[in-house]
Amino acid sequence: MSAPEWDVIVIGAGPAGALAAHQLVRQQLRVLLVEKRAFPRWKICGSCLNGVALKALEAAGLGHLLNELGAVPLGRIRLGLQGHQLELALPAGRSLSRGRLDLALCEAAVAAGAVLRSPCEATVAGCSPAGREVRLRSGDDVQTTSARVVLAASGLGSSALGPELPIETRISPRARIGAGCELKADVRGYGNGTIHMAIGRHGYVGLVRNEADALNLAAAFDRPHLVAAGGPAAAAAEVLAEAGFDPLPEATTSPWRATPALTRRSIPPAAKRLLLLGDAAGYVEPFTGEGMGWALVGALAVVPLVLQAQREWDHGIEREWARRHARLIGSRQRFCHGLAFALRRPGLSRAMLSAAERWPALTAPLLQHLDGANLQRITPEPCP
Ligand SMILES: Cc1cc2nc3c(=O)[nH]c(=O)nc-3n(C[C@H](O)[C@H](O)[C@H](O)COP(=O)(O)OP(=O)(O)OC[C@H]3O[C@@H](n4cnc5c(N)ncnc54)[C@H](O)[C@@H]3O)c2cc1C
Repeated sequence: MSAPEWDVIVIGAGPAGALAAHQLVRQQLRVLLVEKRAFPRWKICGSCLNGVALKALEAAGLGHLLNELGAVPLGRIRLGLQGHQLELALPAGRSLSRGRLDLALCEAAVAAGAVLRSPCEATVAGCSPAGREVRLRSGDDVQTTSARVVLAASGLGSSALGPELPIETRISPRARIGAGCELKADVRGYGNGTIHMAIGRHGYVGLVRNEADALNLAAAFDRPHLVAAGGPAAAAAEVLAEAGFDPLPEATTSPWRATPALTRRSIPPAAKRLLLLGDAAGYVEPFTGEGMGWALVGALAVVPLVLQAQREWDHGIEREWARRHARLIGSRQRFCHGLAFALRRPGLSRAMLSAAERWPALTAPLLQHLDGANLQRITPEPCP
């Protein structure tokens, strides 16, 4: 029985994949990290790291990167809804462009000893007794390699997971579509250090200044409305007007990108010698802006199971990953889901904003959630 070429292959070098690779090479494993796109790359994201994400980076020994990269401290969130506005103090948060953050995490993994193949597209293939096979494609060159464990951290709707795998993707029937663009630093208004969140009947737009003072726009829209409005730029302009925020003519001429449907789950988030993490395991629309936190916490939590799997694969590892993932990340995603559900009801969301204006203490659970105060563990649980 031939030994696999790698101990671990990680597919996708976003926050989940790059951090998992970084942590696993530090455990003396031979790690191949495969990324489809050439870094640095722009990605649709609000680019805000909340308390959970900051704590996860600290726990991984990479908290120093944020100051080195000039991440902007976030002190406030300004919510706009039906012409009313409310400003709240944030317990923690930093804004950093995904181009810089993802490149830095990827470089940290490589500096620790991971081997990077990029740009290269990976597809999970079959299992041999010794390992899981992965096909790697760079241009016309196609190779097959293998590992004792494959981590799929390939984001939303990725091509890495073929239909032959016993993993079902369930997309919520009312899943919104994500969209985003970046405006140059000379755009007026929307001061830095604040998350500006405009909430409309058919979606919301988050605006934040990043380390280069560019204004990052990240949005989620109901799909039928996006089509009826004629695209993300027009839909975003409507949401800004509904919220009573200043118009941004620059956003109508800027190129927008869109995502696949956002709210989805991979069931189960594992198969033989394959564990899914980050958005690839499941995602909920981004109202609380914490997908990177979920991705980073998942990367830390998967390490003990990957170490256990180096000795021998057993189906208990798949069940244990599903259990840990649901306990650590599923509960946080349910909170975000509940909030997004309430915001789709104009009467309810208006009542919530009025209540928060009158009794600011009511916002404490949301702020504590963003800070990760109720997160049980940020450091990984050892294997049973
Ligand atoms: C509109 C919007 C706003 C958001 N705002 C925030 C926010 O403010 N804060 C926050 O924390 N989160 C936010 N998120 C969520 C956040 O962007 C994601 O949750 C996060 O990027 C997940 O990280 P990941 O590593 O799982 O996936 P990704 O960051 O998507 O990384 C996956 C990587 O895998 C690569 N890949 C894909 N397929 C393959 C393949 N076959 N082979 C090799 N490589 C592959 C991709 O190129 C990519 O680099 C937002 C999301 C949206 C849509």
